[in-house]
Amino acid sequence: MNRVIVIGSGFAGLSAATRLAQRGYDVTLLEKNDVPGGRARVFEADGFTFDMGPSWYWMPDIFEDYFAEFGKKPSDYYNLVRLDPSYKVVFGPTQDMDLPADMPGLRNLFESIEPGSAERLDEFLRQAAYKYKVGIKNFVWKPSRRVSEFLSLKLLYDVTRLDVFQSFATHVRKFFKDPRLLQLVEFPILFLGATAQKTPAMYSLMNYAEMTMGTWYPMGGMHEIVRGMVTLAEEMGVKIILNQNVRHISVQEGRADRVLTAEGTYEADIVVAGADYHHVDTQLLAEPYQNYNEGYWDKRVMAPSSLLFYLGINKKVPKLTHHNLFFDEDFALHSHEIYEDPKWPSRPLFYVSAPSKTDPGVAPEDSENLFVLIPVAPGLSGDTEAVREKYYDLVMERLEAYVGESVRPHVVFKRSYAHSEFIADYNAFKGNAYGLANTLRQTAILKPSLKNKKVENLYYTGQLTVPGPGVPPSLISGLVVAKEVEKEFPLKKKAPIAK
Ligand SMILES: Cc1cc2nc3c(=O)[nH]c(=O)nc-3n(C[C@H](O)[C@H](O)[C@H](O)COP(=O)(O)OP(=O)(O)OC[C@H]3O[C@@H](n4cnc5c(N)ncnc54)[C@H](O)[C@@H]3O)c2cc1C
Repeated sequence: MNRVIVIGSGFAGLSAATRLAQRGYDVTLLEKNDVPGGRARVFEADGFTFDMGPSWYWMPDIFEDYFAEFGKKPSDYYNLVRLDPSYKVVFGPTQDMDLPADMPGLRNLFESIEPGSAERLDEFLRQAAYKYKVGIKNFVWKPSRRVSEFLSLKLLYDVTRLDVFQSFATHVRKFFKDPRLLQLVEFPILFLGATAQKTPAMYSLMNYAEMTMGTWYPMGGMHEIVRGMVTLAEEMGVKIILNQNVRHISVQEGRADRVLTAEGTYEADIVVAGADYHHVDTQLLAEPYQNYNEGYWDKRVMAPSSLLFYLGINKKVPKLTHHNLFFDEDFALHSHEIYEDPKWPSRPLFYVSAPSKTDPGVAPEDSENLFVLIPVAPGLSGDTEAVREKYYDLVMERLEAYVGESVRPHVVFKRSYAHSEFIADYNAFKGNAYGLANTLRQTAILKPSLKNKKVENLYYTGQLTVPGPGVPPSLISGLVVAKEVEKEFPLKKKAPIAK
């Protein structure tokens, strides 16, 4: 009774598979694509190596804790460097700001923009540090299957101090007034998939992580984390099989007994689904076994999708740094067009990553590797080549105005990516990029459950269940689900724990 089939090789699937294999389960991981890593895949073209998804490495402690579970360190698998400046914010063609990695530099920057704000930053971060410690040590590790998990005096006390019921927007306005500072502190919230008005103030823990623990980069690219995790998974005994598109999970007498792909059938005692929850629930299971119906999913607030451009440039672009946020348009309007009135944005903000600034290995000599990301609402129709080109020109014009030189004539490689690819490549509900938004009504026990209610040995993991979107939460999600499996389906004979 120890055969586990894990579906999907994203961070969550790899994490769950590795932990279960370490504990003695016989784990096979099935991945539909020909490269592991899910949204953090990589591709190479014309001498450029492009990370396809995540580019910000925050919360290094979570990665350290992950590898430590297996007696390892991130440095056993990849080489991390800390970025300084952490990132650049562009407010207009002649207005920008580099965020220093060190705290004295950051305080000086805040003070120069809004007198008195350096001290308020200290207090803001002091409160955020508490949220990080309690939130990361306690709340994100809860399987969130029962209210009773949260019923302890200590936890209830923590909930009040965590500011779960106050909005992030209200919270930050108690500390800062200058619109540029507000944008700086509100930007990490974009990763959580909702506006600052709808996000609990608890998530100022992201500011603590970003400002005090730093922005890091694994040399070679973010996919090096995946490579490391795959190596570790195999060291622990996971069998990873690529090009296995799961078509169906067979259920007999309330138990998942087989997982079927176009290529074969895999017998299972336990199934852990790390593919997008909506896809697993509504397309891989027969209707009587689905946890939620389409009506439920339609009411969920999904995190944004993205329109992406992977660009190879045959020259250097000196004014860019590794991470560049273009906040040169109205933040509120763009948020409104993502969350409140979903439509193709009229004047979007965008983000440009230039990993070749740090890592010469990801581009040919004297070239730049650019990744351009425009957050857009999920579920939009009209994702055509013409629409993509319109946005390409719109953002490249603003990029060129800022860097003060032409870039478009130097593009030697270009690939775009949006809703239709997210759906085709990952079976992403509404073409979402970052899963389910972390709104108050979609927090903890209010998220899609990590266990199927009708199939006793079927679990879900990944960015649509607890604890939420992002690389560190997905790693945690895999470990949380693995621990639930260990509790509910303990092995008769415990294997020695491999480290
Ligand atoms: C453009 C972009 C930028 C991002 N930037 C950041 C960032 O800078 N920092 C950060 O922390 N996070 C970032 N994120 C979010 C982060 O990448 C995700 O939260 C995380 O990778 C999700 O991992 P996952 O395991 O839940 O899902 P996934 O990575 O989607 O893994 C699911 C896997 O299941 C597979 N699958 C689907 N259907 C089937 C099937 N039927 N059969 C077999 N396999 C199947 C998929 O191919 C995929 O490999 C970004 C995401 C995107 C898209």
